[in-house]
Amino acid sequence: MSSTETMLAARWHPPSFDIRVESVPIPQIQDPDDAIVKVTLAGLCGSDLHVYRGEIAVPKIHISGHEFIGEIIQLGSNYGPNAPSTETSSQTSTETSTETSTETSPRPALYSTLKLADKVVAPFSVSCGACAPCRTGYTSRCLSSLLFGSPRLDGGQAHDAASWVGVHTGGGGGGGNDVEVGEGEVGEGEVDVGKLLRGINDSSLLLLSDILPTGVFGAKQLLGHPKMQPALTGIAWPACLSPPSTSLTNTQTATPALTPLTPSDRLITLALIGLGPVGVCASIALLDELARRGLPYKIVAIDLNEGRREKMRRIYEVIGADGKGGDGEFVVAGPEEAKEVVRRWTAGVGCNAVLEVVGHNSALTTAYELVRAFGVITSVGVHAPKSLPFTGQQLYDKNISLDFGRCPARAMIPDAFRLLVKRQDVFGGVGTETSLIDRVTGIGEATEMYRAFEKGQIGKVLFDPWK
Ligand SMILES: [Zn+2]
Ligand SMILES: [Zn+2]
Repeated sequence: MSSTETMLAARWHPPSFDIRVESVPIPQIQDPDDAIVKVTLAGLCGSDLHVYRGEIAVPKIHISGHEFIGEIIQLGSNYGPNAPSTETSSQTSTETSTETSTETSPRPALYSTLKLADKVVAPFSVSCGACAPCRTGYTSRCLSSLLFGSPRLDGGQAHDAASWVGVHTGGGGGGGNDVEVGEGEVGEGEVDVGKLLRGINDSSLLLLSDILPTGVFGAKQLLGHPKMQPALTGIAWPACLSPPSTSLTNTQTATPALTPLTPSDRLITLALIGLGPVGVCASIALLDELARRGLPYKIVAIDLNEGRREKMRRIYEVIGADGKGGDGEFVVAGPEEAKEVVRRWTAGVGCNAVLEVVGHNSALTTAYELVRAFGVITSVGVHAPKSLPFTGQQLYDKNISLDFGRCPARAMIPDAFRLLVKRQDVFGGVGTETSLIDRVTGIGEATEMYRAFEKGQIGKVLFDPWK
């Protein structure tokens, strides 16, 4: 590739509602950690709309799109069979000196395993895999993280005779690899990942870039919250938080002398706000987690748009008992009807938790109204730089926990992949009444697809740059 070659790409033009398909230079390796990926599919995502509407200002024109899959066509000089892996790095540091064991950051094995022609899914933000947040699993807050499709790192909605995305750290930030998921990178051992991958089409794999990991993240973060423990364990607060004390053998003594929890206290009541593609993924992830644990539940899934509500109803119908359990109720409703449903279900107490995937203050207001005291609001929606619609006093007066933030997509991919394989009845198809993906289209239609997606006239759209 010479630096004079060009490709077509969808680009954001500030301040708002302006997507243009334009000719731009093909990306080049700029850093030894970079990779060049030939994009085979790119996704249009609900969080793109915040930029499209101008709610999140961008200072310059750049290529849009943070979801893509593709094929490795060029790798920087830090990749190769002799690249130090996690294992060899840590061994070396232990053997040589204790100083280096704390100062040398081991590098991910991917440096030595990734090779040309590998098929890859890009988590929507890059992560080095080696810094303290990455090692902890908080890959979305990698110290050198960049978001694809942002001013500092072009996105994947690009096409033409050549279609590539430069996967790099923007020429700085401490380096690190940024591409993920070849065979062997997902599944972590106990399943034959290569065999599973052969049964899954590319449009389905694209969902691993963002929306399915984000849905799984929301579900896990919500159900894993300490305030869910009384309902999950049947033990009152705070004894539910820690194992029984060894010094107190009598459970009557270990548990406060209050009335025992009733079955209704253990019924998990949840609301999910936003039934766009991420909301559908989050609903499926929540239902799957509840089914796997055999927990009884009532969920009200909320959206303003009747088309989205209808799709969610149809999808719930096709999910088998393996993915929604046998002891649950799932109601799809608008916000006002949902308040009535929750009042009826809980005798006015409110939901245990609310999962908010919209990223808008009106959704947070609804969440606050629906959640019970000592409840949890988990938000995985992208929020604009606005103040929250409630005061500290309002949170204090209901003991509300707020959980916000970007999904650590790289860390979530193994769990998301398992759900992707299991729920091919929803994730596998394109354009059917019960498929999550509505359409696969050429990048030349980007302007119209953004317009229709913003109006809620279509669901998940993928761009095939070679179409
Ligand atoms: Zn996305
Ligand atoms: Zn990192």
